Amino acid sequence: MRRDNLKELLNQGHEKEPLSRRDAIKLMGISPIAASVIASVGSGSVTNAEAVDVKGKILIVGGGSGALMVLARLNRAISNPDITVIAPNETHLYQPGQVFVAAGLMTQDELQKPNSDYINGNVNWIKDEVKTFDADNNTVTTRGGQVVGYDYMIVATGVVNRFDKIAGLKEEDIGTNGITSVYLSDLEKGTARGATATWDWYNEVKKAAETKRPTVLYTQPDTPIKCGGAPQKMLYLSADYLKEAGLSADYYFYTGLKKLFHLPKVDEELTRVQKSYDKIETKYSHFLRSIDVKAKKATFIHAYEKEVIDEDFGEKSMQSFADEVVVKYDFIHVVPPMTPPAALEKSKLVNDSGWLDVDKFTLQHSKYKNVFGIGDVCGIPMGKTGGTARHQGPIVVGNLLAVMQAKELKEKFDGYTVCPLKTQYGKILMAEFNYEGPKPTIPFLDYSKPRWMWWEFDRYMLEPMYWRLMLTGLF
Ligand SMILES: Cc1cc2nc3c(=O)[nH]c(=O)nc-3n(C[C@H](O)[C@H](O)[C@H](O)COP(=O)(O)OP(=O)(O)OC[C@H]3O[C@@H](n4cnc5c(N)ncnc54)[C@H](O)[C@@H]3O)c2cc1C
Repeated sequence: MRRDNLKELLNQGHEKEPLSRRDAIKLMGISPIAASVIASVGSGSVTNAEAVDVKGKILIVGGGSGALMVLARLNRAISNPDITVIAPNETHLYQPGQVFVAAGLMTQDELQKPNSDYINGNVNWIKDEVKTFDADNNTVTTRGGQVVGYDYMIVATGVVNRFDKIAGLKEEDIGTNGITSVYLSDLEKGTARGATATWDWYNEVKKAAETKRPTVLYTQPDTPIKCGGAPQKMLYLSADYLKEAGLSADYYFYTGLKKLFHLPKVDEELTRVQKSYDKIETKYSHFLRSIDVKAKKATFIHAYEKEVIDEDFGEKSMQSFADEVVVKYDFIHVVPPMTPPAALEKSKLVNDSGWLDVDKFTLQHSKYKNVFGIGDVCGIPMGKTGGTARHQGPIVVGNLLAVMQAKELKEKFDGYTVCPLKTQYGKILMAEFNYEGPKPTIPFLDYSKPRWMWWEFDRYMLEPMYWRLMLTGLF
């Protein structure tokens, strides 16, 4: 009942005005979880009363979570803001919900809202993409050829799925021949075909398991990816879906990483979760190189180090190897490598690894001091999640205002990242951490334990909170 009240309150009047602080405080009275989340709100929230009169043309590139969060905060922080947004997408996609669509619990249209609900008022919205960044001259050029100048720029382009880096696989193969990927989406159109295809795929796996145990592969690349927990979420939900029906399959998790999770307690718990299913076997340090779609064969590169003895000198040394491993499968869930968009990769704004070169604390560009980054595109050690962007919003706004006023940068991002790992239908292990280590919102609860409470929060409350509180920069 409480949950319904909360959802109703969050949804009411969405089309009119953003939820007021007073309504947000009301939420605390009806949900202890919401209360703790709201209590964790960063101190950077800015109200109209504090709006400052600073001058300068601000350009925001992108129309996803980070862009809208920072836009709302800037609109409140500056008395007469001059803001241009370059983003192609008329529809905003609530990407965390892709997992629930893939698990058969939400529909794609529940993930979509018009971006015009958020990019409005005096904001100059150019519905296009940036094709080239010229940071030396403070300009960008759009796909349509428009040259746009700026005094300050916030880069919020997110990441791009690179299915093209898996030889033999085309995006159109997803949803055919036993192949799926929850990640497949079109952010420009605001659609998530991979999520709906994955729900069909869950049911195909189940149907196949009724006659023989299928071999089902799950993959994770060795590049940074958005929502690093999603590959495992999809694996455990699929195994649980079969378990509920009294069926099973041989699941293999081929990951380019060396652990299930970088926090030891979470890693241990996930190992235990894997053992609780009939068969899940993890192959570490394997990344997917190619797929033979018709023959249903996946080729992985297994990268490892081994001690080698030099026969002439009898000396021992560690050497790196990369073996090809070919695996036959019935079904495969692919997670593609991810990179920033090509326009950014080709620019002077990226570091040696190809990611936006910002300071991990201030989020200011290391060379171009009038440029900041927010969200997945940032080349920082932690977090490519919506929760990360939420925590970065106040930091970017605070520090940008400082630059605009020629003041010292005071706001510091702590690396906050949240990973709601679905270990089964109805339970989530809520891994929250920052640069230092674990950072649970409710410190007295063991963060490494899967709990129904987090499932309820993620499933029923997070999405309305996302639209009403996060994208409006209220927290
Ligand atoms: C399956 C899945 C599950 C997830 N689960 C969770 C979760 O449970 N919790 C969580 O916190 N996060 C989750 N995330 C991650 C979360 O959605 C992202 O971290 C978040 O959206 C990042 O925001 P962003 O602004 O950096 O990028 P995005 O929201 O992806 O937005 C990028 C925007 O930039 C635009 N763009 C791209 N290139 C250009 C260009 N050249 N010019 C102009 N605009 C451009 C795009 O059109 C888009 O509008 C999940 C993501 C996926 C895919």
